[in-house]
Amino acid sequence: MQTQRKLPRLRKTNFSQLEENILQTEVEKNYAVIKEKHSTSTTNLEKTEYGITSPTKLMLLVLPTGLRRRKGNNSGFPTGTVPYNRQRKTVKPSKSDTTQTVYKRLTRKMTSLVQNIPYKDTDTQCVNDTKPAVLLRPRDTAPKIPKTKKSAKKNQRSEDSSNRTVNVRLNAIMWNSVFREHQRLHPNCNGFLQWNMEREEKFGFVNREEAMCDKCNYQSRKFKLYEEVQTKKPGRKAAKINVSAQAALSQTPLGYTGLRKIVLGCNMPAPSASGLQKRANKVLPEIININKEDMKARRKQLIEINTLRGRKDPGSVSLQADGAYNNAIYSGIGKTPFQPATQVVYSVAEAETEDKSIIGVVCKNKLCSIHPIKSGENIGDEYTWAKEALQDLASDGIEAKHLTTDPDSSAYRAADDLYLENTTSTEPEHFLDTRHFLNNHRKNIKNNKELGEIMPGRTKKRP
Ligand SMILES: [Zn+2]
Repeated sequence: MQTQRKLPRLRKTNFSQLEENILQTEVEKNYAVIKEKHSTSTTNLEKTEYGITSPTKLMLLVLPTGLRRRKGNNSGFPTGTVPYNRQRKTVKPSKSDTTQTVYKRLTRKMTSLVQNIPYKDTDTQCVNDTKPAVLLRPRDTAPKIPKTKKSAKKNQRSEDSSNRTVNVRLNAIMWNSVFREHQRLHPNCNGFLQWNMEREEKFGFVNREEAMCDKCNYQSRKFKLYEEVQTKKPGRKAAKINVSAQAALSQTPLGYTGLRKIVLGCNMPAPSASGLQKRANKVLPEIININKEDMKARRKQLIEINTLRGRKDPGSVSLQADGAYNNAIYSGIGKTPFQPATQVVYSVAEAETEDKSIIGVVCKNKLCSIHPIKSGENIGDEYTWAKEALQDLASDGIEAKHLTTDPDSSAYRAADDLYLENTTSTEPEHFLDTRHFLNNHRKNIKNNKELGEIMPGRTKKRP
């Protein structure tokens, strides 16, 4: 059976009947010359005689005006040109290949990343003629591989390479008793004893473990591998390490997320954030109490020292005070209409002994949802914080005789007002701290024009 061949497509005629007739007559008239063009017998002289120097010229002769080709199209190879692909098997990719349109199918995420340009710069679009790729309908994200539930054996193996915190002594006790018990119950077993990770119990940083044998069915009892805080309360006792970690955290600029990251980075099971918060709520009030007790003791000691010094009024002392903010209170100018500071610690230190102990602290926080600063109170209101701190000191018999603050602080007014309200019986005297004193001194020197006459100097180098 003969294969059906595809019929050639009917072409549109290039010339009309009239044009074809003209062409035919003109070609017939100049047939010899046209034919001779390719032979060596036709000289250039002959060609110029007929006005033919190139096929274009010929066409210009033949075609009526209106159908002529554009001027300057001098296509055609000169005689003797070797075709670029003669005797060549491979053809190097031409430039047009690289500038061809690229079609790409990306993931949904990548497509949106490519398509959404936050800032379109017209200059960067056409640096080197590279066409933007044409993005096809996005493909869904890579198919998720369903998580297979690990078998007990696999789980055991993956946990084998992780780390735990154990108390050295309790760990030794556990293994000694486990070995002896296993020996006693299964005298002929030479199995390998290890922790049963399936039955592990974790509490924050610590854990309770039981041992098992990989040959026989031996299972030990559970062993606590941590020391407990001794309390008289019923119920499970807190692990010492969990409490001490909390105390250490309170002195570190590190949050729960940061701590968890470090612990997980060490391939250890990390305490949960909620567990850490629960413990913090128990430990941190204790730390506050310890600090308060300590400050009380220092106040008592200060009065004692002044009594030994033979002071008439040992409770009237020299104090220095200032507030410290988590963000500088003026750092937000031009950036935010709000106060940048969210937390403040106003501390009062004694200037009586060389220790310069802090004997009063007021902490205020705008972030806390449970203990926010009262509405109408300003985080930068040092007057109120100073008043609170000085009132607290007054309750322990300490009054400000000399108060050193920064000159722009209203803390001194607080001390003065307390005296006028008869809360304190010592009239305070205001001192300015040396740092601000130095600043003021420097400014005065800068502004004093007479100084330039006494000690002339130059600001430019002489040639
Ligand atoms: Zn065994």
